[in-house]
Amino acid sequence: MTLQACGGEGTPTEQVSQSDTTASDDDQFEYFAEQFADLKIIRYQIPGWDKLTAKQKEYVYYLYEAGLAGRDIIWDQNYRHNIAIRKALETIITNYSGDKTSEDWNNFMIYAKRVFFSNGIHHHYSMSKITPNFTQEYFSTLLEESRGSALNEEALKAMFDPSFDAKKVNLDPDKGLVKGSAVNFYSPDLTEAEVDAYYAKVIDKNDPEPISYGLNSMLMRNSQGEIEEFVYKSGGLYGSAIDKIIYWLEKASGVIENQPQADALKILIEYFRTGDLKKWDEYNIAWVGATEGDIDYIQGFVEVYNDPKGYTGSYESIIEINDFDASERMKMLMDNVQWFEDNSSIMDEHKKKNVVGVTYKVVNTAGEAGDASPSTPIGVNLPNANWIRSKHGSKSVSLGNIVHAYDKSGGKGFAEEFIRTEELRARSKEYSTLAGKLHTALHEVVGHASGQLNPGVGTPKETLKSYASTLEEGRADLVALYFLLDPKMVELGLMPSLEVGKAEYDSYIRNGMMLQLRRLEPGEVIEEAHMRNRQMVAAWCYEKGMADKVIEKKVIDGKTYFEVNDYEKLRGLFGELLREIQRIKSEGDYNAGRALVENYGVQVDADLHAEVLKRAEKLNSAPYGGFINPKLVPVMEGGKMVDVKVEYPSDFLEQMLDYGANHSFLAAH
Ligand SMILES: [Zn+2]
Repeated sequence: MTLQACGGEGTPTEQVSQSDTTASDDDQFEYFAEQFADLKIIRYQIPGWDKLTAKQKEYVYYLYEAGLAGRDIIWDQNYRHNIAIRKALETIITNYSGDKTSEDWNNFMIYAKRVFFSNGIHHHYSMSKITPNFTQEYFSTLLEESRGSALNEEALKAMFDPSFDAKKVNLDPDKGLVKGSAVNFYSPDLTEAEVDAYYAKVIDKNDPEPISYGLNSMLMRNSQGEIEEFVYKSGGLYGSAIDKIIYWLEKASGVIENQPQADALKILIEYFRTGDLKKWDEYNIAWVGATEGDIDYIQGFVEVYNDPKGYTGSYESIIEINDFDASERMKMLMDNVQWFEDNSSIMDEHKKKNVVGVTYKVVNTAGEAGDASPSTPIGVNLPNANWIRSKHGSKSVSLGNIVHAYDKSGGKGFAEEFIRTEELRARSKEYSTLAGKLHTALHEVVGHASGQLNPGVGTPKETLKSYASTLEEGRADLVALYFLLDPKMVELGLMPSLEVGKAEYDSYIRNGMMLQLRRLEPGEVIEEAHMRNRQMVAAWCYEKGMADKVIEKKVIDGKTYFEVNDYEKLRGLFGELLREIQRIKSEGDYNAGRALVENYGVQVDADLHAEVLKRAEKLNSAPYGGFINPKLVPVMEGGKMVDVKVEYPSDFLEQMLDYGANHSFLAAH
């Protein structure tokens, strides 16, 4: 499973931070690269790179090369004409020497960059085809003058006829899940009924440990007219790219950190050689067990979201390095988790006598490819096979540097628009990053672990039903908020002063009371659990503290702000609400839980919503983000890799052309 940027667990609060110069290195790094259409291109850094040994860096380098070697696969999986179209775009951009000042050329370049971003001609998120704002004639002229080979008729039709193969993944049964989807997991002549019949025949329903049927294959009719799985493997479908992947993985296996990593990698290579899905399961079990070391990776045909039938995995690769700072923070909280439980605001009878913190892992990605790039998840939880998860466990990671880069890419415009005073902006700028990280750590490690049910009360899913997840997320947020202003945090060395906690209070209230509304269309109510819980917490505290003006609504020059006047009192309110929500959970009090969520978390103030949309629109921030990967450059001495340097390119198009020129191993067809 993946966590996406909007509303995921990884972003419990939304920061409004600034990213201009001064202070630390981080502030001098330019996160925002460019924006076009509805897309924003962001850069990210690899913190902790210098803490790795030369051998570890070499390991990362090979894994990333392996990931990139399969890049073409996602293009072909997304649509059968994607590679041919991409190669035509690359040829034009590289060779065309005619007029580059015209509107047509500008529109062509925007189209090309959108296609690069989506790994194909369908929008990465909406799944609809990307419309070129130039004519087929103009395109043909460009291609001719660039000495590119002409595209076949169907590929041209795909580009310029909006109704042809219009949707990458169609989930509307009336249009046919298979026929209505352009994605290349089934040859175009197959129907959904034929796909169903095929899998009904091959799946063994009585196997308690089933393979992931269809995960690495395309269904096609063979020369006898029968339906057959063409398997992704060396010598099979995508064989030439898979051979390159194997080449780099073999190099990686020479510089592993430990034996469990070596064992897992060996099985993965065998899997790519044979395409045997039993090997894939065996690999996943070995991979889940390989928990030591600073480096980990995801590599293969993994998530099935792009298959309307949910069988075939999209190619992806994510290379992960331990986030050393986050691990330290987590250890500190883990070591003190009983103190937090004992000192929480909840009733004594709801406190655990022996609380165990929840482990969560933050990593930094060193490079991504395939379906994970340029658009990337912010967290991943694997493997997907349920029987492996329950029998052998799973690994869940949050991609720390990606979350951070998203957060920093908003630019200072947001802070200037939504934070009223220079003083508040300065505090946000100085502390919001650390505050957000501490909030996440407290939420995960302490928050979800805290509290116990009364004897005989069912699970929240049974008692609180559809309100369970909103209340649970609210409870975990409140544990974090309550302790973010506790001197213990300073004493433990987790924050330099309570100013960090105050910055988080400002940000949480601002977001919960108004800022998050910009994600909703006019007229909508709040549905998503995290958004509901944030408004519920903020609005409840606003109302309960109104008499004392704990939080004050200020309208200045037609602009609304919610500002905290009394941080200690707000902390008291957080504690009070935490105590109540824990009581609701412990007792299974459905009516009280429902009332809290419905009264505070769902309805939207239409006027405020309109105002937020207007103010956010003015800032013109694209709704979807994607990333330029760092470039890993080996330093060779006498034929031996002695170091790997990291470069941070700033030109999206250049990286796309580099990948096309140097990491492309499949022919167009
Ligand atoms: Zn949570």
